[in-house]
Amino acid sequence: MSKRIAVFPGSFDPITKGHENIVRRGLPLFDEIIVGIGYNTNKNYFFSQERREYFIKKVFEDEPKIKVARYSGLTVNFCKEIGANFILRGLRTSADYEFERAIAQMNHAMAPEVDTVFIVSEPALSHISSTIVRDILLYQGDISSFVPKGVTG
Ligand code: ADP
Repeated sequence: MSKRIAVFPGSFDPITKGHENIVRRGLPLFDEIIVGIGYNTNKNYFFSQERREYFIKKVFEDEPKIKVARYSGLTVNFCKEIGANFILRGLRTSADYEFERAIAQMNHAMAPEVDTVFIVSEPALSHISSTIVRDILLYQGDISSFVPKGVTG
């Protein structure tokens, strides 16, 4: 059987404990998980791509099955490029579900060989979002309970 490779796509601006939890829980399902840092021209980022990549590498340095890559363009094209047949996503709320459902269906329509796998967030982590973490950083607040060790403003 060919290797089961999943892409966990996102901006990771910055990576949070919620992201980390989803990726680690995905480990038993896949041979390899690529955390894909997508580039979206419409977004203004708080952290540079280099910094976001550095944080993710640091968080998963203990786990050889998890790799980090940057990409631009459609996630399904990136999946095809690297031979990934799965996209891994986390679900926090029903709002996440509605948003994710549409993206997963569009992706599947564009690339039938790619399926999206969802993992429901840990209740204790479902309030965490990169957006709120960035807001806290903007006002010099303490983000340490929301992000993995080593992620600092
Ligand atoms: P983007 O920055 O592209 O909007 P996100 O960083 O919001 O992407 O999310 C990437 C993936 O991680 C999504 O599937 C999202 O649902 C999931 N995710 C984000 N925060 C959490 C969390 N606290 N718990 C579980 N999943 C999460």
